[in-house]
Amino acid sequence: MYNQWFGPPHQETTHYDFRITDPVVECYLRVVPDKAGAAILIVGPSEAAVNRDRVLWLDAVETSTGKIGSEHPEFSWYSLLTCEPVFDGEVQILETAARIGTMQIEPSGVIYWEFQPDRASLDGLGEGWSSPIIVEGTDTGFNFHAAQLKAVARVARLRALLSVVLDERWVIKLSPLDRRIPVPQTHPEIGPSEHPQDINRYAHKRVRLPEWLIDAWGRTEDQPELANALAAYQEALDIWDGHPSLALVCLVGVVEGIGSRYQDLVRCTCCDDCQVNVGSGKRFRAALSVVLTKKNASPLMAAYSPRSETVHEGRLHGSELTAGAVGFGLTQADPQSDFEMGLIEELRSAAREILLLGLRGELPTEKRW
Ligand SMILES: [Zn+2]
Repeated sequence: MYNQWFGPPHQETTHYDFRITDPVVECYLRVVPDKAGAAILIVGPSEAAVNRDRVLWLDAVETSTGKIGSEHPEFSWYSLLTCEPVFDGEVQILETAARIGTMQIEPSGVIYWEFQPDRASLDGLGEGWSSPIIVEGTDTGFNFHAAQLKAVARVARLRALLSVVLDERWVIKLSPLDRRIPVPQTHPEIGPSEHPQDINRYAHKRVRLPEWLIDAWGRTEDQPELANALAAYQEALDIWDGHPSLALVCLVGVVEGIGSRYQDLVRCTCCDDCQVNVGSGKRFRAALSVVLTKKNASPLMAAYSPRSETVHEGRLHGSELTAGAVGFGLTQADPQSDFEMGLIEELRSAAREILLLGLRGELPTEKRW
């Protein structure tokens, strides 16, 4: 027997032999799994036989390896998204169906009621309603779970797109499920059954998805920094209520992330030992310059100092330390509400404008100031 190694030496334990029935091919493939992967041997009656058959086996291994992952089955999934439920206030209702990439989006036409616990209040049980949209799509994977992971990422990006474009926080109500599974039953005290279905009884706003959303989707796939900024914007919306200081950190990141196309980070030159990269502040200003004048942007520069105090010192600036309570600052200065309703809101608005330009492919090639 003559063996030719294509992997590291090993302690032989379990192995798998692969033979083909063609008598012309005298050698067979022996695969020996080990902790680091697998050792693959070509086993045959003589060195000459191994040398002759190895080309054939290498070709077979390469071809089959190349096929792994390229011929996965396609799975159909569905998911539910909705704008943030409210009790009184305008709920966004999708007016028409839309198609974005491989996803089909349909209004459900259903009112969905749910409980919304208030923060830090035992009896603070609120109710809210919304009207979800149904998102259907397909993804490939060697099983549904693998396809589902792709679908979840797709739906998460779609919801962030909706949050930016429709200027409202959108949420995932049902993560992508296998199309073959029926819609899960909700708790009998929530869901659509207990309440009248006439949407016109409640304040709402009918919204349409713009045509350019299809191109915007493609841009998020082609431009990683745009996709990252989009995800960070959604994160800021998600944590703003309850964690405003961290929301500010996210929003500064959104602006800096888009600003990265205008400004490279450079190694600090303070001394030979310094490993710090600088230029983040320039990125922040560069991105703001595309949507604001220098004068109008100057109050937002103030975001840098609370952001850095949070990141580097753990200092919080909003209602985190008062369990969500904020004053209204009508008769006296209220730094917490100035922070939450002033600074963060202004930065969010600017970040959204910058993202919109990016999504529409309208960011200028040069910073404005
Ligand atoms: Zn330095």
